[in-house]
Amino acid sequence: MINTPILVLGAGPTGLMLSAQLHRYGAPHVIVDRKPGVTDVSKALAVQARTLEQYHQLGIAETAIEDGFMAASARFIINGRVRATAQFGEIGAGLSPYPFLFILEQSRNEALLLDHITSRGGSVQWSTEVADLQRNSEGYAGTLKRPDGTSEPFRCRYLVGCGGASSPVRHFLNMPFRGATNEQSFFVADINLDLDLEKHGLLLVFNHSDFFAFFPMPGRNHYRAIGVLPPSIANPDDFPFDLLKAHIEENLGLPAKITHHSWYSAYRVHHRIADSFRAEDAFLVGDAAHIHSPAGGQGMNTGLGDAVNLGWKLAGVVNGWASPGLLNSYSEERRPFGVRLVHTTDRAFTMLVSISPIAQFIRTHILPYWLSMVLRFHKTRRLMFKTISQTVIDYRKSSLSDGSGSRSIRSGDRFPWFEWDGGNSFEWLTDAGYIVLRFDGAEACDVPGWTGPVTTIEVAGKSAVAAAKAGLPNRGVVVVRPDMHVAHILAG
Ligand SMILES: Cc1cc2nc3c(=O)[nH]c(=O)nc-3n(C[C@H](O)[C@H](O)[C@H](O)COP(=O)(O)OP(=O)(O)OC[C@H]3O[C@@H](n4cnc5c(N)ncnc54)[C@H](O)[C@@H]3O)c2cc1C
Repeated sequence: MINTPILVLGAGPTGLMLSAQLHRYGAPHVIVDRKPGVTDVSKALAVQARTLEQYHQLGIAETAIEDGFMAASARFIINGRVRATAQFGEIGAGLSPYPFLFILEQSRNEALLLDHITSRGGSVQWSTEVADLQRNSEGYAGTLKRPDGTSEPFRCRYLVGCGGASSPVRHFLNMPFRGATNEQSFFVADINLDLDLEKHGLLLVFNHSDFFAFFPMPGRNHYRAIGVLPPSIANPDDFPFDLLKAHIEENLGLPAKITHHSWYSAYRVHHRIADSFRAEDAFLVGDAAHIHSPAGGQGMNTGLGDAVNLGWKLAGVVNGWASPGLLNSYSEERRPFGVRLVHTTDRAFTMLVSISPIAQFIRTHILPYWLSMVLRFHKTRRLMFKTISQTVIDYRKSSLSDGSGSRSIRSGDRFPWFEWDGGNSFEWLTDAGYIVLRFDGAEACDVPGWTGPVTTIEVAGKSAVAAAKAGLPNRGVVVVRPDMHVAHILAG
């Protein structure tokens, strides 16, 4: 019998990040997945700046950066010609230590997180399926089933569903997953494409009836292609690659040859969100809680962000330094962002794939030129970075946020990144637990509602000047939550 305070069901990127967070605080838990190991297919590609900031806190951002690459630009091919180029470069300069659009495929993200867990003495129980879930007075119980036919009962106080879109925990909880499924089917394929165009950045291909996107992947001529599945493919669940190859080569509008493919799949795009991300002592995290179109590369990143939000709270409760009431803030803080995301990505995706004449006109005559033009201006570059990088998610309306602070930085905001000669603000945030920043020798302050590991840092000199420029008080105390959001600001 396995008896654990926390059972994490699912070791995709979300479950692995949750386990990494729990290890950060030494919170005992068991994580299981029915797969034999981390995924070996690419799936999500975009890693947003906020995720890299969270990786930095775990000490794995540099490895991620070495493994992946920046998407510096997007070229638009319309009816067979490159008509416009949007330059991204360091689009979020000054806003984040990772001010670029970054590509690192999901399998590499999962491997990175697993290595981190292993380095902390942890492990995942692979090839282990959770079944027969039940609720009892002490928490939850069920069975872990292994491929050799053996099974083992388990009990846990907290159950965390990181099992993806078809989440067994969500089904067990009978939690409504409202939304819809897009009528069209889409394909995704990792291919080698011989193309008479230099390989850099994204290639977005629009013609009157079709849309393809090609994301550069490591290796010569290696791309991830996505697009709408053509009507010639009647059965999305089972079709030969040759049909897809012919469709891409014929409709790209440029002389092109697919010389190799390593993976391809068809899928329906859903946009759905769970009514709540928590029911009693069970939680829904990642795709189990929200699914949406891949437009904007947000799916995996949002799951990772959910896990960062829940991890320290669960660890605090299990380790005894936080009251169980803290767990209410998980759904309260993360669901509003999920709702917004499901709506915005759905609208963006509909525009990209709609066959209406207006949408076709926007795709072929407006969007590429507009995007390449607005990305020349500092303000719109920053706005675009903020919109997709997940660095402006705030928890101002959370019950944990007390309204303290100024108009520019308030309780619940992401702690800002800023630099000074010889340092930067995120160097303060690497210790596990709350960080108390004391500016100009201010007295320590007592903030109701938080306890646990605390690191106190005296801020003075150049760093204090940089902090004031970034909107923080130049006297007083700033308390930062373990997930790098502001808990409290006491101006001196
Ligand atoms: C073809 C495809 C392409 C995609 N492309 C993109 C993209 O370009 N950009 C983007 O942001 N997102 C993309 N996504 C979405 C992205 O992959 C997901 O958002 C991400 O995988 C969610 O992570 P997760 O950990 O929440 O769920 P998952 O990755 O689905 O992981 C869930 C895990 O739970 C395990 N599990 C389920 N049931 C059980 C059980 N009963 N017992 C034990 N284990 C169980 C599964 O084996 C799995 O490993 C794509 C997804 C697919 C399928």
